Amino acid sequence: MNYQEYFRDQLRQLQDEGNYRVFAELERHCGAFPTAHNHAENGPEKVTVWCSNDYLGMGQHPKVLAAMHRAIDGCGAGAGGTRNISGTTHEHVLLEHELADLHGKEAALLFTSGYVSNWAALGTLASRIPGITVLSDELNHASMIEGIRHSRCAKRVWKHNDLKDLERHLMDLPFNAPKLIASESVYSMDGDIAPIKEICDLADRYGAMTYLDEVHAVGLYGPRGGGIAEREGLMDRLTVIEGTLGKAFGVVGGYIAASKELVDFVRSFASGFIFTTALPPAVAAGAAASVRHLKQSNAERCLHQQRVSEVRGRLDALGIPHTSNPSHIIPVMVGDPVKCRFISDVLMRDYGIYIQPINYPTVPKGTERLRITPSPVHSSEDVTRLVEALGALWTQCQLARKPMAAQ
Ligand SMILES: *Cc1c(COP(=O)(O)O)cnc(C)c1O
Repeated sequence: MNYQEYFRDQLRQLQDEGNYRVFAELERHCGAFPTAHNHAENGPEKVTVWCSNDYLGMGQHPKVLAAMHRAIDGCGAGAGGTRNISGTTHEHVLLEHELADLHGKEAALLFTSGYVSNWAALGTLASRIPGITVLSDELNHASMIEGIRHSRCAKRVWKHNDLKDLERHLMDLPFNAPKLIASESVYSMDGDIAPIKEICDLADRYGAMTYLDEVHAVGLYGPRGGGIAEREGLMDRLTVIEGTLGKAFGVVGGYIAASKELVDFVRSFASGFIFTTALPPAVAAGAAASVRHLKQSNAERCLHQQRVSEVRGRLDALGIPHTSNPSHIIPVMVGDPVKCRFISDVLMRDYGIYIQPINYPTVPKGTERLRITPSPVHSSEDVTRLVEALGALWTQCQLARKPMAAQ
């Protein structure tokens, strides 16, 4: 077989379908978020980033940086091994205590990323509990889907956020058979939020465990940044809460929080936890500083929500269509993959604004969009430049506007 030829063919096919992914090569500037330099063909150009998942700018927070510097200077670069073999440092244990406390759970367990935490925790629970059926929301993240698939357990995929459909599946299963309902709180592409309480009610009625991915909510919602479940007073009703340290907390890593038995079970059986080098202690220290700060500070969360409504209001005033939702994610709908990529390219090239286009297969065809994530580090002037650029491009691309909102 001509391997290189095969690789080229497959890539060409992706390109023909318009699904080939192009990365922007950024150099972020600490102290100057959300600005970065884009290393383009004609040399680096200054851009304002409007699609970062460092939702609160914690990736440049002085407390986070100080903790990381301290840990590097004190402990060195890497952890030195897997958690089992010399890789469990004091910083890891402190962070796990911080996370268990954040979610009001007995214990927490760290992973190298949120992806790995979903893959490993769901994979382990679903493969190690005999006869279990996992009931998975159809829009769950790839990491959850892969974990469930890897376990080879019985699986039911229920319609997105559809409690009737979920109940239909639950009723269909023997009452005494083990079950796990897996869902997210904030869904990252539409920004909608799951009916967590009602899902917990169904779980209680049918004897199921619940697994909630709060990746797009931790740090951002709830009085201490515990997520949507904290805000709604539901944390104690969830069996497992999963989160990331890489988005609102601004560092990297993932975790689950649950009972001490469940956490010990995953710690003891999950290959994706056992056989990989632990996160660097400095990463754990930085994440702990971030979690700790956001437990006692609401300022970032308030400013975040303020900035989000400011952007929504300014888009409405220009009639630029965006999906309304109860979260911080603003999907500006373009509905055409070529125009979506074009707008993104022109924003970058002519306006110094970076918004990655979101096309199929990340979202369904016909719902191509620009996913805007405002943050406390964007200024009102940044917002003005963004909406003016979008307004000009909307005209240039002859895209439909919504009727003007009353001003
Ligand atoms: C990003 C994401 C993850 C993975 O988290 P990482 O820490 O980035 O690996 C998991 N779930 C959802 C819903 C995500 O969007």
